[in-house]
Amino acid sequence: MKTGIHPEYMACKVHCSCGHEYVTRSTKSELRVELCSECHPFYTGKQKVVDTAGRVERFQRRQAASEAVRTAQAAQKAAAAAKKGAPAKKK
Ligand SMILES: [Zn+2]
Repeated sequence: MKTGIHPEYMACKVHCSCGHEYVTRSTKSELRVELCSECHPFYTGKQKVVDTAGRVERFQRRQAASEAVRTAQAAQKAAAAAKKGAPAKKK
């Protein structure tokens, strides 16, 4: 190894957002990560939603809104059918 051109390779403590911590070696003394092998769905086998910038929340909001519109349309159709049906019954 040529001297003076390589970064220092030291023990590195890794902190994951799930709370798991472990020690490895790196050129940095400390790392903070979002996912590790203790919590990544590939290793746990459990499904997990990794939310980026509130996209999941936005999708759920839009889904709820469209559901409300659909319910309202169905109610209108039912009301219109009842109106049509009412005079027909009188005849
Ligand atoms: Zn983790």
